[in-house]
Amino acid sequence: MTNRIYIVGMGPGREDMMTGEALCALEQADVIVGYTTYLELLGERFQGKELLSTPMRQEEERCRLCFGEAEKGKKVALVCSGDAGIYGLASLMYEIGKAYPETELFVVAGITAASSGAAVLGAPLNHDFCVISLSDLLTPWETIEKRLRAAAMGDFVIVLYNPSSRKRKDYLMRACDILLESVEEERVCGYVENIGREGTKAELCNLKQLRDRQVNMFTTVFIGSSGSEITGGKFITRRGYLIEKDTDICRNH
Ligand code: SAH
Repeated sequence: MTNRIYIVGMGPGREDMMTGEALCALEQADVIVGYTTYLELLGERFQGKELLSTPMRQEEERCRLCFGEAEKGKKVALVCSGDAGIYGLASLMYEIGKAYPETELFVVAGITAASSGAAVLGAPLNHDFCVISLSDLLTPWETIEKRLRAAAMGDFVIVLYNPSSRKRKDYLMRACDILLESVEEERVCGYVENIGREGTKAELCNLKQLRDRQVNMFTTVFIGSSGSEITGGKFITRRGYLIEKDTDICRNH
């Protein structure tokens, strides 16, 4: 096997949120392939490289482009936002890669939006959580509904990716209505827009309020479990440690 393709998660956007391994893979590449927005986010540092993009939705073409370039003997890096193995192109690359046995694939981990968004809000994922995408482009809506109900039943913190798009404006409302079948209206929720990019915006609210919020496609939504709360303006999920309460500390001093 001689050809190599690095499938690189670039994190949420800012270069300092990219791992050293990801930066190294991009530095070593002859050609960087990715969706236009991500290539633009890479900034000055990589503008000297050969940059190739295909529009949104042309994921298969983007992957095939990588294999084509690798066959020419170039070192190829395919960039995805966040982590390439979380709603990214890593698995599609392996599927398509079956037809290119002479090319070896390497996945380079990145900080996914659940992780970077959680850090903005506080510590909402500090106990069991699950991640659900509201996009029904590749998953039937009935499956998404089933997973939402199951997550609520399991008392997981829920992270929603792809909460909205131009064609799916009311999906967050529909998801909240499903959760409200079993979760109380006051449940702690939050969402972060443009994590690690210009215009980062974080909001805290409850589930009933979340139902009526308009969020865009660059937003990640967090719905707390029964162990979640707002503490000092931050969204946290308790892990269950038994800590000394302030009153006890006062008594001891
Ligand atoms: N591979 C990416 C996810 C791609 S799916 C990752 O691991 O993060 C696209 C969805 O991810 C968006 O609709 C949004 O919900 C979330 N997302 C990705 N980048 C984001 C960012 N910078 N700010 C907020 N949400 C983001």
